Amino acid sequence: MEAPLESSSLALLALRCPRCHQGKLFSHSALNISKFARMPAQCPVCGQSFEPEPGFYFGSMYITFAFNVATMFAVGIPLYFLFGDPDTWVYVVTVTVVALLLTPLILRYSRAIMLYLFGGARYDADWHKHRHATTGSNDF
Ligand SMILES: [Zn+2]
Repeated sequence: MEAPLESSSLALLALRCPRCHQGKLFSHSALNISKFARMPAQCPVCGQSFEPEPGFYFGSMYITFAFNVATMFAVGIPLYFLFGDPDTWVYVVTVTVVALLLTPLILRYSRAIMLYLFGGARYDADWHKHRHATTGSNDF
């Protein structure tokens, strides 16, 4: 087992569990077109729940929306300046293709941000000493 990442930002970037920074949030590769969104119900390392409540990830749609708006600007502004304001269909096709290609990444990071911000888990380097920290019932 590799050492946990100390930084929560790096653990988020690496899509690791918010509590132990070791367990992977997603069970398949981002390139697996049919399974890229699959998450285990809980962390395979520390047991932290990855779905704190039913429908938890509906809220990540807002984060996905923000990522897609950013994608629109990141693609549209260079198109405008580098290609001299092309026809509207060029913007629509280019932004759509880039957004579709980024879908696995955007979905994964939206869910990870949702879990880190609202999942109720904080990094615990000594998680193995506090086995049931998620319920708060078994600590000392
Ligand atoms: Zn974990």
